[in-house]
Amino acid sequence: MTTIVHHFINGQGVAGKNNHLSPLYNPATGAVAGQVAFASTTEIEEAIKSAKNAFRAWSLTPSIKRARVLFKFKELLEQNIEKLAELVTKEHGKLLEDAKGSILRGIELVEFMCGIPNLLKGSYSENVGTDVDSYTVRQPLGVCVGITPFNFPVMVPIWLMIPAIACGNTFILKPSEKDPSAPLFLAELLHQAGLPAGVLNVIHGDKTAVDLLIKHPDVVAVNAIGSTPVAEYIYKTAVMHGKRAQTFGGAKNHGVVMPDAEIDRVVEAVLGAAYGSAGERCMALPVVVAVGDKVADALVKPLKKRVEALKIGPGHMSGMDMGPLVTREHLERVKSYVDLGVKEGANLIVDGRGLKVSGYENGFFMGGCLFDHVTSEMRIYREEVFGPVLCVVRVKDFESALRLVNEHEYGNGTAIFTQDGNIARRFTHEVQVGMVGVNVPIPVPVAYHSFGGWKHSVFGDVGLHAEQGVQFYTKLKTVTERWFAGEKSEAHYFMPS
Ligand code: NAD
Repeated sequence: MTTIVHHFINGQGVAGKNNHLSPLYNPATGAVAGQVAFASTTEIEEAIKSAKNAFRAWSLTPSIKRARVLFKFKELLEQNIEKLAELVTKEHGKLLEDAKGSILRGIELVEFMCGIPNLLKGSYSENVGTDVDSYTVRQPLGVCVGITPFNFPVMVPIWLMIPAIACGNTFILKPSEKDPSAPLFLAELLHQAGLPAGVLNVIHGDKTAVDLLIKHPDVVAVNAIGSTPVAEYIYKTAVMHGKRAQTFGGAKNHGVVMPDAEIDRVVEAVLGAAYGSAGERCMALPVVVAVGDKVADALVKPLKKRVEALKIGPGHMSGMDMGPLVTREHLERVKSYVDLGVKEGANLIVDGRGLKVSGYENGFFMGGCLFDHVTSEMRIYREEVFGPVLCVVRVKDFESALRLVNEHEYGNGTAIFTQDGNIARRFTHEVQVGMVGVNVPIPVPVAYHSFGGWKHSVFGDVGLHAEQGVQFYTKLKTVTERWFAGEKSEAHYFMPS
């Protein structure tokens, strides 16, 4: 009998009344490893009701007590990091060490949000008028919803739900239906840490569940991460239904390599950033912009050798560089992009389409692919592939490189590799991208700096993490107050000043 991943409503596991079950695969073997129950309207209504009922008590809980739950949660995450990583690897396919790294980035946000009493501190002005004082406070919104992608099944749910809960909101998480076990386990750990029933509910499903959640009259805010069409759809639908919304979409991050860059270092950086997690990261580096043919030739030669030598196998096997892709469907999609790149006339230097991993012939594996002479009109360059495919684009100078990055539809992350501070400074100032690295290939901001892209990588105004996370999940209230000491009152018919 296969395991069925259930919902988590009002502090307990709920099998659900819907008979709609969706298969879960082990990407390394290609075999069905379990099933996930898709929610019906009944479970969604129950989850929203539970979150609504829990809101008053949780929002009135002193922030220091909410922080104590987070401190305990952090401890439980650390104690359970191996189990969490195994769940991630089993359903997502990424390497265990990579899974652990992403869980640590999740823990960092929990650590930051343990400081919630300080983050929620308001401001106070004495004597804004004679004997009148004024203060501003941040208050929680109510029932919030988070919709998460498959590629970080622990880190991203933490990024969306923990700031919401820390601020005193209640939350409904709809994780990716491709790897739902780890997010469900997070809910169990939060309850072990003392989170009251109803503050966090987990609902599984696909677009049907998302639509019911984001249009529901009792939901006040929606935060989502996924591909750009989905992020745009969720943002617009949520806003049209009167919700506060922020959604984060796809990416095509460029790494600009200047002629003075240290080629050996760049090769190492690019390999990890392009092929780590099989390229299934929104901050992956699938495009190298080589400034000058000399740099391009110097890069492509060692890259070819190293990409051909990538060690590819199941995520639980030690010594691997890369695991399988998440599903067969995604594998076929990535391969079809490689076919397209060839058809478009890009030069395929390393072709990983035919890879078979011995003992894991039905796994969703492909080898690393490397294209040279990719141009900006090609779809292999313009569209997000989200797989282990690296494109080298050759340009003549820095201006052309900057223009190329700025003209791309996406603006999530980018990096420049150079030893010239002036060039690096110009790049960081002028590039139209939200997260920028200088000699840092994956510039994912830490929890106390804001996270978020620009252009079609984001919909909404504020970022994730740091103070911006608190800003999204709270509304400001300004109180103006006066206390009388027996003096007479009289009506004033003009604007108080
Ligand atoms: P996806 O867009 O297919 O799904 C994301 C979530 O939306 C899932 O929970 C899914 O069930 C739901 N969903 C799917 N189709 C929907 C629809 N039509 N209507 C409503 N909801 C729908 O994304 P994915 O394949 O799970 O994740 C990969 C994508 O996420 C990539 O594009 C990647 O760049 C992006 N991503 C972005 C960031 C970021 O910070 N910008 C971070 C991680 C991943």
